[in-house]
Amino acid sequence: MVKENCGVVGIHSLDGVNVIPMLIDSLRALQHRGQEAWGIAVPNKSPLKKLGLVSSSASEFKKISMEYSSASAIGHVRYSTIGKSNIDNAQPLKVRDLCVAHNGTISNVEELSNVVGGCSFTPQNTSDTMIAAQRLVSLIKEKGQMSKALSILKNEMIGSYCFTFLSDDTSVYAARDPCGFRPLVLGEKNDGRVHIVASESSAFSAIGAELIRDVSPGELIKFSKNGIESQSFSEDKTHAHCSFEFTYFAHPTSKMEGTNIYVARKRIGKYLARKFPIKDADLVIPVPDSARPAALGFAQELGVPFDEGLLKDRYSKKGPLRSFIEPHQTDRIEINRWIIPIREIIENRHVVVVDDSLVRGTSSKAIIKALRKAGASKITMLITYPPIKFPCYAGIDFPSQDELATYIDDKKYSEEEIIENVRRDIGADFLGYNDPENLANAIGIQKDSLCFTCTTGNYTSLGITPVFKTREEMKGEVQ
Ligand code: SF4
Repeated sequence: MVKENCGVVGIHSLDGVNVIPMLIDSLRALQHRGQEAWGIAVPNKSPLKKLGLVSSSASEFKKISMEYSSASAIGHVRYSTIGKSNIDNAQPLKVRDLCVAHNGTISNVEELSNVVGGCSFTPQNTSDTMIAAQRLVSLIKEKGQMSKALSILKNEMIGSYCFTFLSDDTSVYAARDPCGFRPLVLGEKNDGRVHIVASESSAFSAIGAELIRDVSPGELIKFSKNGIESQSFSEDKTHAHCSFEFTYFAHPTSKMEGTNIYVARKRIGKYLARKFPIKDADLVIPVPDSARPAALGFAQELGVPFDEGLLKDRYSKKGPLRSFIEPHQTDRIEINRWIIPIREIIENRHVVVVDDSLVRGTSSKAIIKALRKAGASKITMLITYPPIKFPCYAGIDFPSQDELATYIDDKKYSEEEIIENVRRDIGADFLGYNDPENLANAIGIQKDSLCFTCTTGNYTSLGITPVFKTREEMKGEVQ
């Protein structure tokens, strides 16, 4: 399987304004969702795709803006979950007269590729987005309409998806899967003369656009010379919004399902303090950057001092990047070397370290080692996300079970035994995880409307019974 999480954008101007500068700025504001590659597509041209950060191509922006000048366009920032990190897997992709950008994972892509026919799918040679796009284009040809094609495709396709599409007739489309796994929001600018869809509202803030609302699960939106049109391609009412977006993935300025992410994270910290009222703590510190609001909420709730005991070296090559979404373990380790403890803050203190998640344990182990070296007398590690015990097949990069810190072997262990094993492994004096109930209450969304599959192992919302593979098998790195 090849899948992407990522960030997507689609923009359309009713007045013929060149939207490329806005598109580039909004992609930059979604950079936290993917740092490996980016791309844009305009009607009647091949998509432009570049490796690395959007800002790495800053010297070319003027030229790109003139060369690709268009009143409608889509864009993408990529973070691979299972596909290889190369320019061929970067997006948007083009199939006949339709360009496609995708955030999510298609879980049954091999099956879908049989329906498409004429293309044999392997993780090395193509992407799930390409297979889905090929099927969609043939269904549009058959049924004549995007909405009819999607209502058929959604029954054939299992997985999570937010798509932006661009047709050579200049129309922009956006579709969100019926469960709403990944976020997608609708906005406008210039008194409704410019319409925009994006993975997160942080993209709107970057270009002075206003958030109108979330795109509903199972909704198809079209921007064209007729303005905005909306249709449902699914009547399914069961939602499964990714709970991990709220603790880690989304930008703190974004608003998602009616909730501002920064405010939600602060509340998550507050609720975590009620679960773990650590009485003898001297200090609460966050693991930079996503856990900062939760650590602040935790400290305020308990009345314990909050401070910055760990700082990222922003001038190092890897410092500003996010370690979890780097595809290679060596890169993750290098990033951890640039999270530096401040001895004067840490020394001889019982430090409560708040982190947003504990996936592979690489960062936690390195951070605890550094804090001990800086003289911490006791280290309590609290994680705002519940224990991640199962792979995600809905767009986040922990595709295999054996790479997770909670994985011991094939035997069954109690939750307490698993947590104790992780605690020993990372070297903390105490390790506490949040639980789904507490997290859902803090976010303010019903637990039943959130996805917690990576914690529970219940894949019902995705409609699959997975056979777990190794990371190498999933990445197509095994011959
Ligand atoms: S399995 Fe976990 S990371 Fe994946 S969509 Fe569900 S909550 Fe998010």
